[in-house]
Amino acid sequence: MNELALSLDAYPAYIYDLPGLENHIKAIRTALGGTELFYAAKANPDAEILRTLAPHVDGIEVSSGGELTHVRETLPGKPVAFGGPGKTPEELRLAHNATRIHVESPTELARLVALGRSAEILLRANLPLKTPNAALTMSGPFGMDEDALNECARLIAGNPRLTLRGVHAHLASGLDAPTMLDLAHRIAEWAIPWLNTRGAEEPELNVGGGMAVDYASPEALFDWHAYGTGLASIPARIRIEPGRAITAYHGWYVTDVLDVKTIRGETYVILRGGTHHLRTPVTKGHDQPFEVLTATGSESPATLVGQLCTPKDVFARDVLVPPLTPGDVVAFTMAGAYAWNISHHDFLMHPKPAFHYLR
Ligand SMILES: *Cc1c(COP(=O)(O)O)cnc(C)c1O
Repeated sequence: MNELALSLDAYPAYIYDLPGLENHIKAIRTALGGTELFYAAKANPDAEILRTLAPHVDGIEVSSGGELTHVRETLPGKPVAFGGPGKTPEELRLAHNATRIHVESPTELARLVALGRSAEILLRANLPLKTPNAALTMSGPFGMDEDALNECARLIAGNPRLTLRGVHAHLASGLDAPTMLDLAHRIAEWAIPWLNTRGAEEPELNVGGGMAVDYASPEALFDWHAYGTGLASIPARIRIEPGRAITAYHGWYVTDVLDVKTIRGETYVILRGGTHHLRTPVTKGHDQPFEVLTATGSESPATLVGQLCTPKDVFARDVLVPPLTPGDVVAFTMAGAYAWNISHHDFLMHPKPAFHYLR
């Protein structure tokens, strides 16, 4: 990675480590045992990333018509599950041969009925389960409470084209394996009896994504083996759809120093580009981990910022760096998920980064 990063003729740039990603997904696949694995494309839908993951996942979870079209073009024939709130009639029409549709409301189900086509359905449940320590909880507008779930189950039962396959429950994110397992077992305790009384043969549970990624200690990986082993005792067909914990680790945002300023004792390193290319530290409220690829020497505190005219354009605050001067190269690591694709690229109209791939 360093060699490629230092050989680039223009910064900023993203580098994706495809062999590293492939090793990572293979290890996850093996550790999970019989649990079905879909990749949540919204974490990073880069075509090379999708092609690298494809042989090692059972399918791709998409959350919009745009993602659906992109994944179909990039990975023809790969199973897709279509989820996400507020699906339009047009999107549902596009999803005609999706492996699963994750229905979010009775209104969506009515739209499916109106299309008059067959569909294999998971109903997304919004269950009142407590999730301590979650980075985000998916209560609020996602999925359905028991009343709406029952209404949907009745509608499906009365429609020969629709098949109730199971329940989908992506309830929280940022959880470690023991907490996620506990949550999955509590979901199953409710969902399996519910599905059994509503005619779902071979009940299926999609327990979502949200596996923790610790940006402060990149080497502390989610315990996929413990998770897979614990899920195996649930008497249902189990599927998960992680995003971040699959792709976060194998992307770098590499850029160079434009200016170094000390203002009333505070040192700022101004880097080419900014959080309009790498929004992750702003949305997560963390210091993006980084490596200085050129300079060495005794470290002192500085704040790493970009070129945007806003005080929010901060990659990392008060971090220790060696003496830096214009031209030094800094690589932000763990920039492979919810990085480029969640960023506000056009703000200030700076040039876009190039994309490079380690193969
Ligand atoms: C975002 C999302 C995922 C993936 O979550 P990660 O935190 O990236 O693992 C999976 N399922 C649903 C429904 C989502 O909205």
